[in-house]
Amino acid sequence: MEVKSATFVISNSDWRKCPSDNRPEYAFIGRSNVGKSSLINMLTNNKSLAKTSVRPGKTQLINHFLINHEWYLVDLPGYGYAKIAKTARAEWMKMIKDYFANREQLVSTFVLIDSRIPPQKIDLDFISYLGVNSIPLSIVFTKVDKLKQRETALNVNAFKKALAEEWEELPPIFITSSVSGTGRSKILNYIEQTNNSIKE
Ligand code: GDP
Repeated sequence: MEVKSATFVISNSDWRKCPSDNRPEYAFIGRSNVGKSSLINMLTNNKSLAKTSVRPGKTQLINHFLINHEWYLVDLPGYGYAKIAKTARAEWMKMIKDYFANREQLVSTFVLIDSRIPPQKIDLDFISYLGVNSIPLSIVFTKVDKLKQRETALNVNAFKKALAEEWEELPPIFITSSVSGTGRSKILNYIEQTNNSIKE
């Protein structure tokens, strides 16, 4: 897929106020600092569509971007700030749970995982949550330019092993770098194919 246009549409904390035109949407989520904004900007060929490195603890919102007038890329607020207040964490939880429970246009969710570190409980727990709620997902390993291929493979394989303890079949897995553009066409082609299969 070629990204011909990518425009910001709306930010809000309530799934009910998200766009209601029934275009398919794809959500992106991960631990804060995982590289989500950078990945969104890389995918859309736009240096500043998603804002990188937002101040930790700041209230974050559900952001909708319209791609090619055809589908929405949804930037969901990240999880796992060590210093976040309990109330902010509870607000995040409610916003996310409501979104996943109600957003019928959601086709698939990309869960971003930092390729530089071994499997983390917080990520595995979040993936389990999506699985339990039957939300289709893919895994996106980020920042692979930072490690040697062999080291990335070790972390990716450890993650797959951890997933295999709960999942019979592994979700699609993408290896990416926002610096080099690795994985860009694979993710965009996956979205294009999925959009085509919905239309059929
Ligand atoms: P977010 O909090 O998940 O949106 O993460 P950001 O996109 O703001 O990225 C967090 C930090 O990681 C920033 O300093 C980015 O420049 C850096 N970063 C993000 N993606 C990559 C990547 O693919 N390669 C490298 N080397 N750095 C990255």
